Amino acid sequence: MPAPLMDTYSPPDLDFVRGDGVWMITDTGERYLDFIAGIAVNSLGHNHPALVGALKDQADKLWHTSNMFRVPGQLELAKKLTDNTFADRVFFTNSGTEAIECALKTARHYFFAMGEPHRYRIITFTGAFHGRSFGAINAGGNPKYLEGFGPAMEGFDQIAFGDMDALKSTITEETAAILLEPVQGEGGVRAFEDADLREIRRLCDEHGILLIYDEVQCGAGRTGKLFAHEWAERAQPDIMAVAKGVGGGFPMGACLTTDAAGEHMKMGTHGSTFGGNPLAMAVGNAVFDELTKPGFMDEVNEVAGYLKQQLHGLADTYPDVIEEVRGRGLLIGMKLKDAVVNRDFVGLARDNGLLIGAAGDNVARMAPPLTVTKDDVRTALEKLEVALKAATDKLKG
Ligand SMILES: *Cc1c(COP(=O)(O)O)cnc(C)c1O
Repeated sequence: MPAPLMDTYSPPDLDFVRGDGVWMITDTGERYLDFIAGIAVNSLGHNHPALVGALKDQADKLWHTSNMFRVPGQLELAKKLTDNTFADRVFFTNSGTEAIECALKTARHYFFAMGEPHRYRIITFTGAFHGRSFGAINAGGNPKYLEGFGPAMEGFDQIAFGDMDALKSTITEETAAILLEPVQGEGGVRAFEDADLREIRRLCDEHGILLIYDEVQCGAGRTGKLFAHEWAERAQPDIMAVAKGVGGGFPMGACLTTDAAGEHMKMGTHGSTFGGNPLAMAVGNAVFDELTKPGFMDEVNEVAGYLKQQLHGLADTYPDVIEEVRGRGLLIGMKLKDAVVNRDFVGLARDNGLLIGAAGDNVARMAPPLTVTKDDVRTALEKLEVALKAATDKLKG
């Protein structure tokens, strides 16, 4: 980044100034097909009329009151969320990291309130990503994000992704919660097996442990269900963090809990100046209404199935580039061969007018708006194939 911005990012030399559905347009009028959607955030694409309308309408009325005063939109959205999920209580935040902080605090506070303050440890999995606050980087456990930021925070136990035996042997009298993303995003688009989620739920019940899902990336219809864990029966969480797609591009998140897990979060235990502000709630309500329209998820599943099937075809045609296609719904990862660096491949796709992202484990990640059509997918696949050819040519030198 050019000073005076901090050097924390390295974006390409492009300036996007406009969005239109699944397209983003630069200052020079070049059009790019957006198959990453601001990292699974623009769930309804760019410039969606219902969202623009909701935001403009609220902008004319009232922007901010803080939580000193009731925000009617909060009650409305909380009711929708609780009517449609496992949850009974909602706390609104501005981001995913804050939703995770609320989830972690809620879990620890539950045991404090139950007179078991020695139960405070949280078990997490390798490849996890939960955000960038101190709590979130310690929960995520990624050494790259922890290095240089002081001593690791007490109370997190990390085990290998999918290692159910390690999970069982790591549970102790001090374990408060297990935290996981039903589909890991940043870690490389890896989904937990439904059976494993069920077994984890069972272990939590057996030991009186709280189960926390981080659905910041995989929620909000991304996998073809309102929330990803709904694919697995009998695997509901006690607490869930959401953000990204639920705001459709407006910064907002939420921490959802059952009555039992959330009832001890009383006056003074937690708070936010901006969380649940009228602008965010106006957009959040509009996003929710779109996601829950009859037939919406059917369309998502239809187009996701087509995209996945076509990508498997491309993986067969370009075995020197693509090692594996994985993910769920419209959160898709292409794990690339070691010889192809994912960031370079993302650049090749961009050179051909297709925006995708990189994730851990040398994965190229796709998360198009949920409103993407089969025609858009066909256009994306054409652009992707040009990039795959270019990557193959590069390998041959
Ligand atoms: C993006 C992300 C976060 C952090 O969300 P922010 O809005 O960037 O704070 C947390 N968990 C997961 C799974 C994410 O993908």
